[in-house]
Amino acid sequence: MPVLQVENLKKQYVSFEGKPGGGVLGVSFDIAERELFTLLGPSGCGKTTTLRAIAGLETPDVGRIALAGKELFNSKSGTNVALYDRDIGMVFQSYAIWPHMSVFENAAYPLRVSRTKRLDRREIEKKVMAVLEMVGLAEFAKRPSTQLSGGQQQRLALARAFTREPRLLLLDEPLSNLDAQLREQMRIELKRLQKETGVTAIYVTHDQAEALAISDRIAVMNNGLIAQIGTPKEIYGRPASEFVANFIGRTNLLRGVLRQNADAEGVARVGTNLGELMCFFPSALKAGHTTALVVRPEHIAIAKSNGAAPVAQPRVNWLPGTVMRETYLGEIVEFLVAVEGGDMLVRSALAGDVANGDAVSLTFPAERTIALMEG
Ligand code: ATP
Repeated sequence: MPVLQVENLKKQYVSFEGKPGGGVLGVSFDIAERELFTLLGPSGCGKTTTLRAIAGLETPDVGRIALAGKELFNSKSGTNVALYDRDIGMVFQSYAIWPHMSVFENAAYPLRVSRTKRLDRREIEKKVMAVLEMVGLAEFAKRPSTQLSGGQQQRLALARAFTREPRLLLLDEPLSNLDAQLREQMRIELKRLQKETGVTAIYVTHDQAEALAISDRIAVMNNGLIAQIGTPKEIYGRPASEFVANFIGRTNLLRGVLRQNADAEGVARVGTNLGELMCFFPSALKAGHTTALVVRPEHIAIAKSNGAAPVAQPRVNWLPGTVMRETYLGEIVEFLVAVEGGDMLVRSALAGDVANGDAVSLTFPAERTIALMEG
C-alpha cells in the first residue's frame, strides 16, 4: 500500500490573454513508505504546481490525492482537506528562519504549536536536540539564528521540517540558495537525514545531477506531464524518450532502421548514418521500424588508431574517427570526434595520450547502445 497516491491530477492555469496556460495536465504516481521521490524537469514543467496541490496550497481542477489511506482531495466527491489538517511538512527555496528566535526555538517551533502532537517541555527538548545533532547544529542551539551562515540556516530549515515528523515532507529546491560545494555536501546530508528519520519525502529540482544523487525514484516531467518514472539507474541507463535522454546528462542521439526483429532485452542490428550498429532493445520491435538510439559519452572507449580495424566482436560497435575538439573537464576529458556520417561525443578518464587532430578508434558495447522505448 503506497503512502501517497496521486491520480490524474490536473490544474491548468489561464494565460494572460484568457487562453489555457501552463500547469499540470494529468499526473499520476504512487510513493512508498520511506521513499525519497523526486520531481525533476525544466522550468515551468509543473513540478511546483504538483507539490502545491499535494500540500493543499492549490486546488486542482481534477484528480485524487490520498495520504496514508486518507483522501485529501477528490474532485469527484468534493473532498478537499484543509492544508493544516494534512500532516505535511514543507521546505521551500526561500526557507524562512525566524530571526528573533534562537536556533533551538526555531527547530522547536512546530512542536510548540502542533495541534496533534502535544509534547511536554522535556520531550520537546530531547527531540529537538536529537535533530539538531543530526544536522550538526547542536552546539549552536542557544545562538540567535541570525548568527548562522547561509548553509547553517538551510540546515536549520531542514531540521525544523524534520522535528515535526510529518507523514510526508515536501522539499521544493531546498538547496538552491547554496554554492555548488555546499550544495553537494548538503544533498548527502539531506539523504542521510531522510533515511535516518524514515520520513517519506518528495523533492523538487531542475538539477539532474542532484536528482540522480539523492533519489530512490525520479519522475521526469515535461510540459505538465510525466515523461518517465524510474530509479536513477533506469532513468539514466534506459531513458524512455529523447526528452528524457537529453535532459538527463550529455548524450549521443542517433537514428536508425531496425534490420532484424529485436526481442525484449535483446540485441539487434540497426542501420544508422554512422553505419550498422548492434543495439540493445529494452522492449521488442519488428524489423523495418525506425528507432532512436542513445549512447552515453562515458560509455565509449577512445584510443589512438594505428589505421587497422580491430578484430570484430559481435557485441561491440567500432567506429574510426578524428578528434576535432578536446575539452579538459578536470577528472575527465571530453572529445568531439568526427566519424563517417556524423559526430560522437566521448568522455574518458583514461585517454591520456589522445590529442586534438588524432586519428582514433571508438568502441562501445551493444548493451550501451540503447534503443529508446518510444521509437
Ligand atoms: P520552476 O522550476 O521554474 O519553478 P515548475 O516546474 O515548478 O518550474 P510550475 O511553477 O509548476 O513549474 O508552473 C507550471 C506552469 O504553470 C508554468 O508554465 C507557469 O508559468 C504556470 N503557472 C504557475 N503558476 C501560475 C499562476 N498562478 N497563474 C498562471 N500560470 C501559472
